[in-house]
Amino acid sequence: MKTFVENVLHARTGPMTTELVRHPADFGLGQVPTRLKPVSTTRSVCGFCATGCSLHIHLDANGQAINLSADGAYPVNLGMACPKGWEALTPLAASDRVTTPLLRNPQTGKLEPVGWSTALRVFTDRLKDVQQKHGPHSIAYLSTGQVPVEEMALLGALFKFGMGGLHCDSNTRQCMATAHVAYKQAFGFDAPPYTYQDFEESDVLVFVGSNPAIAHPIMWQRVMMNKNSPQIIVLDPRRTETAMAATRHVALRPKSDLFLLYGIAHVLVEENRIRRDYLDAHTTGFAEFATFLADYPPDRVAAETGIAADDIRQLARIIARGRAVSFWWTMGVNQGHESTRTAQAIINLALMTGNIGRPGTGANSITGQCNAMGSRLYANATSLLGGRDFAKPAHRAEVARILDIPEAHIPSQPSKAYDQIIDAIETGEIKGLWVIATNPAHSWINQGRFAQLREKLDFLVVQDMYATTETAQMADLVLPAAGWGEKDGVFINSERRVGLTRKVSAAPGQALSDFAIFKLIAEAWGCGDLFRRWSTPAAAFQILKDLSKGQPCDISGIRDHDHVEKRGGIQWPWTEADEASRGAAAETRGPTPSPDNQRRLFADGKFFTPDGRARLLFDAPRPMPEPTDASYPFLLNTGRGSSAQWHTGSRTNKSDVLRKLAPTALYVEIHPADADRLGIANNAPVVVRSRRGAADAFAVVTATVQPGQLFMPMHFDAVNRLTFPSFDPHSRQPSYKACAVTVDTGA
Ligand code: SF4
Repeated sequence: MKTFVENVLHARTGPMTTELVRHPADFGLGQVPTRLKPVSTTRSVCGFCATGCSLHIHLDANGQAINLSADGAYPVNLGMACPKGWEALTPLAASDRVTTPLLRNPQTGKLEPVGWSTALRVFTDRLKDVQQKHGPHSIAYLSTGQVPVEEMALLGALFKFGMGGLHCDSNTRQCMATAHVAYKQAFGFDAPPYTYQDFEESDVLVFVGSNPAIAHPIMWQRVMMNKNSPQIIVLDPRRTETAMAATRHVALRPKSDLFLLYGIAHVLVEENRIRRDYLDAHTTGFAEFATFLADYPPDRVAAETGIAADDIRQLARIIARGRAVSFWWTMGVNQGHESTRTAQAIINLALMTGNIGRPGTGANSITGQCNAMGSRLYANATSLLGGRDFAKPAHRAEVARILDIPEAHIPSQPSKAYDQIIDAIETGEIKGLWVIATNPAHSWINQGRFAQLREKLDFLVVQDMYATTETAQMADLVLPAAGWGEKDGVFINSERRVGLTRKVSAAPGQALSDFAIFKLIAEAWGCGDLFRRWSTPAAAFQILKDLSKGQPCDISGIRDHDHVEKRGGIQWPWTEADEASRGAAAETRGPTPSPDNQRRLFADGKFFTPDGRARLLFDAPRPMPEPTDASYPFLLNTGRGSSAQWHTGSRTNKSDVLRKLAPTALYVEIHPADADRLGIANNAPVVVRSRRGAADAFAVVTATVQPGQLFMPMHFDAVNRLTFPSFDPHSRQPSYKACAVTVDTGA
């Protein structure tokens, strides 16, 4: 009889592993050649950003993807897709896909192919050896918001309940930790309240540290479809593409947003432009907040932000007069040293003006990665499965019962956050690290430190589609993983919509889905019995439903994967009672807004806190961690550079089309006055230096940045040689947006 491992490996030689009938030039570059005319079409949600667009995937006779187009009958993207979506299949055919496990040969120092059996034996032997020598919590993993919920839930359960690990985190710490904590503290649960229809229904939209025209182009299209001639206000130090298109750009000083938001709140109170009835009925903490705001009059806030006192008053009045005001924030807020309180200052404005729970309103965090919301609810890292709390005995008992595992397997202590895991590697507390579908050697703040820490690890294993990432190049062992399009599962997008992503292509060589790899590891580790019910992603989805029951994110009314697709995605919550009472009426799939495919939270003014009231939370602003000085006189801002690039570029750099749409080399935006003073010409080579390292770039002389400020795109690995490691104290999210640098011609 074959072992489970042999069965899975044998299954890989079935029909889905036949050589793909395709040529890289066939992808995304226009016409489908006659020999590849599709014979059928399926749908899959895009695997890049958290917009969660649906794509039609066109298949050949073998069920293999040959091209794609945007899905017109999906309430998210309404037939649109950004360049990354149109090129989503291309990275699968990249020549540097890792097709077998790779093990570093100690003699040659090179990664060399080995079989899965060897890889699994080395994985378990080496990590168990680390645990034996240094304790059970001396191993950790860093994962991702890019894999389906079923995979991240299985990983978190395997590591904490099966392998005896405790410390794990995900790259969602770098993008969404702040929104998670801000909502949890203010609303009692990590619950973004909105639906994308709100982009079209507001008459005032306020974007704080958010550039959707580049970072979330399909959401920006939804704003452009707004028929209310809305006022669009952008609070951002940089004149971004969104700021250029706005009706009002408020170019505040970097990291002065908390002051500005308090200044606006001060005016609302002073001029009695608040919804006192709403505050009294549905919130706590307003009296204390109003007292606190007395210290933030417009004159003081003007001195801190660089925004005139009259402009601050005008902003408050525009918000107060709005019929339906929506507030949107992204990384300009989340990636700051006081990001949680800044996000909550936005939430406070929405609560004070009663702009929540109605069409066109909300304090709305726009998520980054395709499944960051799934990670926040199910990764089993910061929160116990289903948005529960590891510290609560009742929650641990509930999860143990649902999963049919001993309660003692569920830890009661919290995991270390990403930066604390890095610190623990430095101190020798963590000696074994497993990195899954992320690239910290490129993306972690002050990345040079991550590279130095490699030598402190006894064992580094990387599980990825490519062995060419900066992190995989450092690994002792590389496990070849399938990518988006090569596996099934669900993502949860920014507006809480569960969407289905499908297997439409065979993974190359011996690469396996992350789900299959976790199952193999469970067997090799000796804890496979705990995860028998997690037999397939479809079976795991049924477990996710059970875990959600009774939680704010209840999805027990969703029948299965097919139901998700048939409905055009389903926003949580969708309970069994919802399905029983409204399911039949909600079956129609299509872009037309209906109460059941465009739902928002808190229409009844009831929040998820024990008393049902939202909390107004606040703290005094704190100084910037690394201010400028005579040696480093510029503040560096980083962010998304183009809609054709995604994060560290491990996938988007594989596409000729996307590379043509994006800058080819690292650039730095500098104001003309600074460029003149320093003798820097447009397009000239320059060197940007911080106390941590230097980056070569070419200068883009432009007034998009203010004097004394620079901007560099995050997609080039040199940028995080410069960034300063500071963290929000509540969310522990890194602050990528402001560090002190200097720039010169390098002469
Ligand atoms: Fe839509 Fe985001 Fe995919 Fe672009 S990357 S197609 S905006 S989900």
